Amino acid sequence: MSNDTRPPSDDVLKLAAEKARRYVRNVYDRRVSPSEASLAALGELSEAFPSSPCDPCGVIEKLDQIGSEATMATTGGRYFGFVIGGTVPAAIAANWLAAAWNQNAALRVMSPIAAELEERVLRWVCEALELPLDCSGGLVTCATMANFTALVTARQALLARAGWDVAADGMFGAPPIEVVVGAEVHASILKALSLAGFGRKRVTMVEADGQGRLRADKLPRLSERSIVCIQAGNVNTGAFDRAGEICQAARDQGAWVHVDGAFGLWARISRKYDHLTQGIDQADSWATDAHKWPNVGYDSGVVLVRNGEALRASMGIAAAYLEPGLRREPMHHAPESSRRSRGVELWAALKSLGRSGLCALIERTCAHAQQFAEALRKRGFDVLNDVVINQVLVSFGRPEVTREVIRRVQEDGTCWCGGTVWQGKTAMRISVSSWATTETDVECSLEAILRIAGECHAL
Ligand SMILES: *Cc1c(COP(=O)(O)O)cnc(C)c1O
Repeated sequence: MSNDTRPPSDDVLKLAAEKARRYVRNVYDRRVSPSEASLAALGELSEAFPSSPCDPCGVIEKLDQIGSEATMATTGGRYFGFVIGGTVPAAIAANWLAAAWNQNAALRVMSPIAAELEERVLRWVCEALELPLDCSGGLVTCATMANFTALVTARQALLARAGWDVAADGMFGAPPIEVVVGAEVHASILKALSLAGFGRKRVTMVEADGQGRLRADKLPRLSERSIVCIQAGNVNTGAFDRAGEICQAARDQGAWVHVDGAFGLWARISRKYDHLTQGIDQADSWATDAHKWPNVGYDSGVVLVRNGEALRASMGIAAAYLEPGLRREPMHHAPESSRRSRGVELWAALKSLGRSGLCALIERTCAHAQQFAEALRKRGFDVLNDVVINQVLVSFGRPEVTREVIRRVQEDGTCWCGGTVWQGKTAMRISVSSWATTETDVECSLEAILRIAGECHAL
């Protein structure tokens, strides 16, 4: 198979690997946010569409020269914004290999390895998180899509029970479904509800407590046409809704329970958090992210559904040329058809960590969060949440002072923390989600935060 016109690719792959290796080596020591100069250099990208080809090595040189410096160092140890995982070494390396493979993970006939890995990792996730081993699932981009997939499935299953075929007849004129959420529901659930035709406002919102937990005692009467959305890990506080109690009530009344466990669900790997996750396996569907706490790299969302037939009924499609085989077909379990084989990195990360490695990662990041909270409290700052897992909310006093501290922390570059308003109080969020964070990272980040708080006369 010779092709005289095919350009050689070995040089550019070597170059990219070299640049990536240098990036990974340096990321632990560099400033977290990009410098002013590296942001200014982004201007060099504004050129008209090139009229002629460029040597691939030149392309990679340029990308590294302008791009690497302008990244946010989220794979280092001192990024604590949003809930962003780093990426374990096996996942980065597997991603390189997967890029070379460039498999379409839609159907087994398109990629036996992608289909096989997907099946393996879905099973592993159920084993790791002690969810029903016979549930079905799909790999999607993110928790928003996982929530969407689960809610669309719930909608279709509940309406089917009521004698309505939503896939064929749509939502207009369908029997109403009541969607119940907590007052501190994640915005992605509301977005998923709007995409699914429920409308983000047509929900029954149940009061939440001071940690953001849906108050189970305030649940309305449910029915076979209710969907209850609960949370495993509030994005601000890390709090868990009382799954056991809520699932029991829902089950007794025939309702569907969906768990948004974007990051918190992974706490279930550790016996230390059993009191938080108890009863979560009684739900009907679960959404989580592998790119958050398990450090699998972007993008990697997972949806799991107890009733696999219901998932396939809502996500399956038929066309003569698609030739579905006898085995599980990836595309019949998710909204997308053609897509990358995200099972590759998920498999590599879970294989490299194993149960004890994943458990250690979860427990270590929680311990780091405790370390942050204790030091901040000791200095007299108000930690607004019960630090039950890896999330810390801290106020530096008046809202404008807290905002100024956040701005300066981000600019300083030692670490990166974002802001939020938690039940009326302006706070800085510290989310410890990376495998790469060390105690030294926590110490020098604390030093920077406390120094800046002092400069802002926060106390
Ligand atoms: C992060 C998060 C989401 C959304 O996750 P994406 O991967 O960004 O779609 C949803 N719910 C909770 C609780 C989250 O923390």
